[in-house]
Amino acid sequence: MVEVIKNISEWLKIQKEEIKSDKSIGFVPTMGALHQGHKSLIEKCRKENDIVVVSIFVNPTQFNDSNDFKNYPTTYEHDIKMLEECNVDYLIFPNFDSMYPDGYHYKVIEDDFSKKLCGATRPGHFDGVLTVVMKLINIVKPARAYFGEKDFQQYKLIDGMCKAFFMDVEIIPCETVREQSGLAMSSRNKLLSEDEIKIAPIFYKLLKSDLDLNKIKIKLEEASFKVDYLDETDGRRFGAVFLGNVRLIDNVKK
Ligand code: AMP
Repeated sequence: MVEVIKNISEWLKIQKEEIKSDKSIGFVPTMGALHQGHKSLIEKCRKENDIVVVSIFVNPTQFNDSNDFKNYPTTYEHDIKMLEECNVDYLIFPNFDSMYPDGYHYKVIEDDFSKKLCGATRPGHFDGVLTVVMKLINIVKPARAYFGEKDFQQYKLIDGMCKAFFMDVEIIPCETVREQSGLAMSSRNKLLSEDEIKIAPIFYKLLKSDLDLNKIKIKLEEASFKVDYLDETDGRRFGAVFLGNVRLIDNVKK
């Protein structure tokens, strides 16, 4: 049975008193509405650690658009079932006040890569991400924490933060899990209409094609996507698009 922990001091007590020092803790932070992408991270974590901790916290400080935050899907009962299936030991499920006793006056800010790609059109997004991940890692104290390459920029920034602040944790990247259509799995896919779900896989197909970024942009717009950005850096091609109000991101190795 997964033990659900809402109170952070309760977890700190368990962590101190019940988890023997020779047991390794693996950690998978999420915002819930769990799917096979999350499951792959949790399964890898289960294989590589004695104790598996997952968190579900829809972190308001990383949403620059309040509607996006309000509409973010939640599927708590389904999530608990998946955590049980994956043999997860603890779910950390905190509320805002327990995560932000400082009222978000203390922040972790990276001032270079976080301003590019997704950061260019989502001001403050990565400040929120880095701050909450540092808090969660300090709370859970894992040996290893797992992050998906679907959010490659996020993974790189978190890895950089942990190294910059000498945090004693190994950041493990995990490959993007896709639908059969090629569409990267995402909690936000649940917000797509039936028609949009049919169009969405075109994004990945074009991203991994040999076409140049200009041609890809034209073809995406023809298929009714609104392009947020397309870019190439560090041997990867990155993109973010809107289908209706839903923002999708993806990236591929070049
Ligand atoms: P989220 O709940 O969207 O914040 O995601 C939690 C973690 O799962 C992050 O490290 C994501 O990068 C990862 N993740 C989300 N979708 C996928 C996917 N399709 N494949 C691999 N990892 C993913």
